Amino acid sequence: MITKAPRGVEDWYGERMYKRTVVEKIARDIAKTYNIKEIITPVFEHTVLFQRGVGETTDVVQKEMYTFLDKGERSITLKPEGTAGTMRAYLEHNMYAEPGPTKLFYVTQAFRYEKPQSGRLRQHHQFGVEFVGSKSPLAEVEVITLVIEMINKLGLKDAKLHINSIGCKNCRETYNEALLKYLKEHEDKLCPTCRERMQKNPLRVIDCKVEDCKKIVEKAPRTIEYLDEECREHFEELQYLLNQLNIPYEIDTGIVRGLDYYTKTVFEFVNEDGFTLCGGGRYDGLIHEIDEKQDIPSVGFGMGIERILYFLEKEGVELEAEEPVALYVGILGKEAKAKAYQLVNNLRKQGVIVETDYMERSVKAQMKYANKIGAKKTVIIGEDELQNNIARVKDMESGEQTEIALEKIAELF
Ligand SMILES: [Zn+2]
Ligand SMILES: [Zn+2]
Repeated sequence: MITKAPRGVEDWYGERMYKRTVVEKIARDIAKTYNIKEIITPVFEHTVLFQRGVGETTDVVQKEMYTFLDKGERSITLKPEGTAGTMRAYLEHNMYAEPGPTKLFYVTQAFRYEKPQSGRLRQHHQFGVEFVGSKSPLAEVEVITLVIEMINKLGLKDAKLHINSIGCKNCRETYNEALLKYLKEHEDKLCPTCRERMQKNPLRVIDCKVEDCKKIVEKAPRTIEYLDEECREHFEELQYLLNQLNIPYEIDTGIVRGLDYYTKTVFEFVNEDGFTLCGGGRYDGLIHEIDEKQDIPSVGFGMGIERILYFLEKEGVELEAEEPVALYVGILGKEAKAKAYQLVNNLRKQGVIVETDYMERSVKAQMKYANKIGAKKTVIIGEDELQNNIARVKDMESGEQTEIALEKIAELF
């Protein structure tokens, strides 16, 4: 008997499943008003896509990917995030040939081999947006306003926008030198992974989760002090636009995000209790990493759906309730079965949520069941009702009964 799923994955059903669909619906509805189109990419991709796209020295690629050889000896990886696959699809289908920008959103599973902990399993779900083709800080503003609207529509506590700029490749050169110099002075206190990373990609030391490393990082040089003119202007324009739009923010020089593809802007939304709800930023170099013939800027963000559900629960936010069963059609006697089912069928065609008896229960048991599933109204269809073409619809809350011709029942809804 195998009745237990592997460690770190979960089933979705019942109320939690319903809540997830509500969250996804809110996301889809907002995306629609921004004219952002949905994209679904495969669950797995060539491993090299993530090595190049997410970055060889990131925690995700070094420690957390589900990578395996398929029967054709190809290295395949279950996607650990949504951006790289979306960008690969953007390139594969020449979406850049259309007038830009290309605005895409996804709702996807993502797989990371991590120690399962509350709110973070090995399979999780993300809603994310990719805004491809624009160099303007207005692209960042668009993605940021979308997140703000999402937080408002979900009814979550206010979360504050934290922004930073980590510069481009050009800025990174001078910054890396300064950072490396600083890190070398403290090398003995860094964790083994960081000591190794330091040489290849010192920026990754900044988001190490090991306490000792965090302490050293606190006093490390900041990217923002090493921006070239273009990057500084970009960051200034972004701040100007946010000010003009009355979007409050805080500059947080500690944010670098855990993925290599970020350039210039990085941002996070942090709630009153200091928890990060979601994050994103600009990644002008990502497309070039995937296809060296292309060089197209882009901006995006990703939001963990489990994380959102966790905060909704923690903050006691009630989502819009699931629509109840509007009518339970009870069946009395074998002869009435087909006719009663016909009525059920007709009502459903009109969009009414209807349930009936498939268990051949007694009328009393059927009413008990209707009550249990929370049906708003009930009606019993038997020989008498069919012969006289009249039935009594009962309101389960008030107990009130309405006599009505069978073909008119639909008018009650
Ligand atoms: Zn720069
Ligand atoms: Zn470390």
